[in-house]
Amino acid sequence: MTQSLSRRAFLAMGRRAPKADGAPGRRAAEVASNCLSLKGVACRICGEHCDAGAIRFRPRVGGRARPEVTADCNGCGACVGVCPAAAISLVEMTERGEPA
Ligand code: SF4
Ligand code: SF4
Repeated sequence: MTQSLSRRAFLAMGRRAPKADGAPGRRAAEVASNCLSLKGVACRICGEHCDAGAIRFRPRVGGRARPEVTADCNGCGACVGVCPAAAISLVEMTERGEPA
């Protein structure tokens, strides 16, 4: 099951959630379906704020580009607060780099 954080919860937390063994968990950004770009509105704000270059925009025929988070995401959260649609959340990842 995917565990996601709202923007408000993430900002309130201000740090990574610990794993059960006390070690910090790895988080990565996830884009929800309410992303403006997925709805045909030109928006690349998240990509412009990602210093790691971890958000790529995949062109789609007949529509706006789809933002995709790559494995370079370090979970910094810089993209979360700048998204005008609050469409990005940080999710806990497994050791294999998949949503937990
Ligand atoms: S900033 Fe938000 S709305 Fe804009 S492309 Fe990124 S995820 Fe979509
Ligand atoms: S969490 Fe940080 S590294 Fe990951 S996509 Fe967002 S801005 Fe880029």
